[in-house]
Amino acid sequence: MRLVILGPQGAGKGTQAEYLADKYGIPHIATGDMFRWAIRQGDELGRAVKDYVEAGRLVPDELTIRVVSERLDADDAASGWILDGFPRNLAQAEGLERLMRSKGRELDRALVIDVPEDVSLRRTLGRRVCENCGATYHEDRPPRNDWVCDRCGGRVVARSDDSEATVRERLRTYHEQTEPLKDYYRERGRLLEVDGTASPEEVFERIVAGL
Ligand SMILES: [Zn+2]
Repeated sequence: MRLVILGPQGAGKGTQAEYLADKYGIPHIATGDMFRWAIRQGDELGRAVKDYVEAGRLVPDELTIRVVSERLDADDAASGWILDGFPRNLAQAEGLERLMRSKGRELDRALVIDVPEDVSLRRTLGRRVCENCGATYHEDRPPRNDWVCDRCGGRVVARSDDSEATVRERLRTYHEQTEPLKDYYRERGRLLEVDGTASPEEVFERIVAGL
């Protein structure tokens, strides 16, 4: 099973990607993890990526595609994978298509999880995270004791990068650059679009039924 998963912030992509990875025994490859993996390899490509990541700059499409290519050749990805956070624009989608062709493989599905903007904002802005271990919570699903982490006892706080302005900006980028990929994959008969407003378990059932 070779999948890409797309959706706006707060759609629950990461959660669904984890569920899918478990069910199908394939790696969940999130873009940030993939860049860290590349940097750990310590080769010329990893060093090029490191320069961008350390400077806090966006890794250019061409370089990103080369990292994807190496990552998909790793042993754990031999029977499939789920890419989360890539492709994020048309150039990357086309790059992935060329890559698949050069490897003699095919992308099975592009899974899009849709949620309306108000849901996206509510879910994202309500997010809370443990300062110590990174466990995630939500205003609507707090830890058992007064914002003290269930797992490690650390302090549970709002994520500093989740202000309403930054979330709106990221949503705008998603609508402009990533959402057009729906048409791209629809034309290629690969699109699976799922309503992400239900519970994570229900959304997962719909995805599995659609695959
Ligand atoms: Zn914790």
